[in-house]
Amino acid sequence: MTAAGSFAQSTHVVPDKVAVVGAGMVGLATAWFLQERGIEVTVIDREGVAAGASWGNAGWLTPGLATPLPEPAVLKYGVRAVLSPSSPVYVPPTASPRLLSFLTRFARNSTAGRWKTAMDALVPINRQALTAFDFLGKAGVEAETYEAKSFLAAYRTVEERSVLLEEIEQIHAAGQDIEFEPITGDDAREIEPSLSDEIGAAIRLHGQRFINPGAYVQVLADSVVARGGRLRTGVAVNDVVDGIRDVRVVTSDGVSESYDAVVLATGAWLGKLAREFGVRTVVQAGRGYSFSVPIAHVPAGPVYFPAQRVACTPLGDRLRVAGMMEFRKPDAKLDPRRIDAIVEAARPLLRDADLDARTFEWVGPRPCTPDGLPLIGATSSPRVFAAGGHGMWGITLGPITGQLLAEQMTTGRTPDELAPFSPLR
Ligand SMILES: Cc1cc2nc3c(=O)[nH]c(=O)nc-3n(C[C@H](O)[C@H](O)[C@H](O)COP(=O)(O)OP(=O)(O)OC[C@H]3O[C@@H](n4cnc5c(N)ncnc54)[C@H](O)[C@@H]3O)c2cc1C
Repeated sequence: MTAAGSFAQSTHVVPDKVAVVGAGMVGLATAWFLQERGIEVTVIDREGVAAGASWGNAGWLTPGLATPLPEPAVLKYGVRAVLSPSSPVYVPPTASPRLLSFLTRFARNSTAGRWKTAMDALVPINRQALTAFDFLGKAGVEAETYEAKSFLAAYRTVEERSVLLEEIEQIHAAGQDIEFEPITGDDAREIEPSLSDEIGAAIRLHGQRFINPGAYVQVLADSVVARGGRLRTGVAVNDVVDGIRDVRVVTSDGVSESYDAVVLATGAWLGKLAREFGVRTVVQAGRGYSFSVPIAHVPAGPVYFPAQRVACTPLGDRLRVAGMMEFRKPDAKLDPRRIDAIVEAARPLLRDADLDARTFEWVGPRPCTPDGLPLIGATSSPRVFAAGGHGMWGITLGPITGQLLAEQMTTGRTPDELAPFSPLR
């Protein structure tokens, strides 16, 4: 530890009163774990609970698959994106300089070597991700996490399947356990009659879970409030003003309130408030779409079509179908062409799903960083913290993020697991 590090520790002041900006999975989990350590919290969201990416996502709790987004295969999808409007990755033809800079950095990180370094950073928090959900459950957060009785990655051909099998080998080599078995298309259909005859090969994954993310995050919010937390919705945080002894949070209704510390958990909007606190990593919205449809045989667990990048999750008596990675501004309007692209990709692969009876068409911004790692921890101010940038995995990693960040904020020590995620990297 450096002299500066030990000085910071010895002078660390435990905050009594913390504002958390953003009522998504990450912000609310952080607020909850801060309360666990006796801290008074106020959660502020410009819209409401789960108004960003935390509502209509696929809800998979799959630490076994939580790998860095920049990977060698993504480069291939990038090229396809330019060629085909129905590709699962969309980059606008007139990308802004900021987006171009993000994509350039993202591409630079999409090498096997960088992937391995990022994976090494993720493995320690992935290992604890489900334990953090269990902790919440045992402490009375009454939202269910469902064991995936089956979890199938399904393909048309054995050749297509080899991409994920290779990736699983690399995941294993990085020290992350994931139990799986390759199976035939017929075996896959026996397990999940919802798969069509076009499926010729699959991988069955074990030990993963899923949730209804919007419902879960709402229960988490209710729990924060029941434990004495304050939830302010419908007001945006316009400014965070760092003082010598406190930090002031200025909201769009003109109110300015004083806190001992602030956590910025604003998902794909993180850069706006975090930049002035030394957070230079661009957080780019990788927008995903979803909708829900009736299906004759609701699967017993998630079904993934990796070649199409379409993720399906059973939610009650319907199937949520999610996909696309659209690099645009987080607040851009829903583009119905992306929904059509998901529908056309999924239609031949699902049996007896009524893809034309869609409800809850939704778009939400994955908060993506160019190196595929989240930003969790202190900023250039000792009173301002960041928690975001989890990209594809903010639901799975939200609770463990909150747990470890609350530890850092109250002890002044950075848990080893968080070291690679410094917002100042
Ligand atoms: C289609 C799709 C499928 C996905 N599937 C999965 C999955 O299966 N498993 C998984 O782990 N992850 C998945 N993800 C990723 C996951 O949804 C995100 O990583 C996660 O929701 C991010 O949570 P967050 O709390 O950081 O951000 P958000 O949920 O976006 O929350 C940020 C909040 O900040 C608020 N806010 C922004 N600016 C301000 C401001 N100035 N003042 C006040 N409030 C503000 C917003 O209103 C918003 O509510 C998926 C994402 C998509 C799009």
